[in-house]
Amino acid sequence: MKPFEYRRAEDPADAVAAVAGEPDAMFLAGGTNLVDHLKLGIANPDLLVDISRLPLNGVEELPDGRVRIGATVRNSDLAAHPLIRERYRVLSQALLAGASGQLRNMATTGGNLLQRTRCLYFQDVTTPCNKREPGTGCSAIGGYTRNHAILGASEACVAVHPSDMAVAMAALDAEVVVRGPSGERNIPLAGFHRLPGDKPERDTVLEHGELVTAVLLPPATQSHSAYRKVRDRASYAFALVSVAAVVSMNGDGTIREVRMALGGVAHKPWRAERAEAILRGAQASEENFRRAAEAELESASALGDNAFKIPMARNTMVAVLREVTGGISNV
Ligand SMILES: Cc1cc2nc3c(=O)[nH]c(=O)nc-3n(C[C@H](O)[C@H](O)[C@H](O)COP(=O)(O)OP(=O)(O)OC[C@H]3O[C@@H](n4cnc5c(N)ncnc54)[C@H](O)[C@@H]3O)c2cc1C
Ligand code: SF4
Repeated sequence: MKPFEYRRAEDPADAVAAVAGEPDAMFLAGGTNLVDHLKLGIANPDLLVDISRLPLNGVEELPDGRVRIGATVRNSDLAAHPLIRERYRVLSQALLAGASGQLRNMATTGGNLLQRTRCLYFQDVTTPCNKREPGTGCSAIGGYTRNHAILGASEACVAVHPSDMAVAMAALDAEVVVRGPSGERNIPLAGFHRLPGDKPERDTVLEHGELVTAVLLPPATQSHSAYRKVRDRASYAFALVSVAAVVSMNGDGTIREVRMALGGVAHKPWRAERAEAILRGAQASEENFRRAAEAELESASALGDNAFKIPMARNTMVAVLREVTGGISNV
């Protein structure tokens, strides 16, 4: 591991100034992703700025009904928070589906959003990887691709984003609050992570030195929500496919409003806008669920080992829609 300087930030402004002022500086939160990367030689900062003890660890309801989640709130605390369990069930479920109890006790809201891909070539510094070292090539293309993307991939990178929490936040229309050297800005969660294009080294739209300070959830509505994660083992495994849905119904069995996002299928939490457009105003029926899922996956393409993800994503979307619209889920 390369030697580096360590500093504990005193307040958010100090943290931003410290990282912005040093090109090779990074924020350290729970360390559950970054410390592994330091050990593996994937991240080689000169300076680590510890933000884990900044006063950003609250979950509070704002006067307008939105809920503000501080960036250093631990994943286990967020999952267990009464406001989240009672009003944003999909988020609590997604958090509890991620990692292990010990990891959730360390992992933070900001760090979870900014964790990097679990592509095995990205983690192996002896292999070419455009995300780790731009311009070196992508070892996954033509290699082992069982866990890789079926939507929105590019010739430069076919990796997926591993977060469960972010998928639920995408379906909730959350916003990320960011503080940088020139002030604060809010970024819709759906636009926070990037598709790889020809710059896969950039996971998000954040600039160097920008600190995530909070995530804002819109006021909870009368809706049903659920998160379902399909994985190789019952726990402690990343999603092969996951689906988050938030649905409100009209009295006549039609869908008033629906928001869906998929995990494990793209370089970012994938907001299922095509499916949403078909479902809005439609009867909650098996036929419409399937039609919507198929429309969403029309542009999906398999890489070889991951062809199973296309029917798996379709079936999981249908199963979650059945669940949130009151039907019996049996997939
Ligand atoms: C074995 C294992 C299994 C796992 N399984 C899952 C899983 O199933 N689902 C899942 O979602 N996750 C899973 N994880 C990932 C885990 O959730 C993440 O490692 C964790 O959420 C990262 O949070 P952290 O606070 O530890 O981040 P850190 O490791 O401290 O930081 C991660 C990155 O975020 C940056 N960063 C952190 N906070 C901020 C901030 N506020 N502003 C700007 N940049 C910031 C850091 O600079 C770093 O680049 C797993 C991890 C492990 C090790
Ligand atoms: S898929 Fe992306 S992260 Fe994986 S090897 Fe290719 S460029 Fe690297």
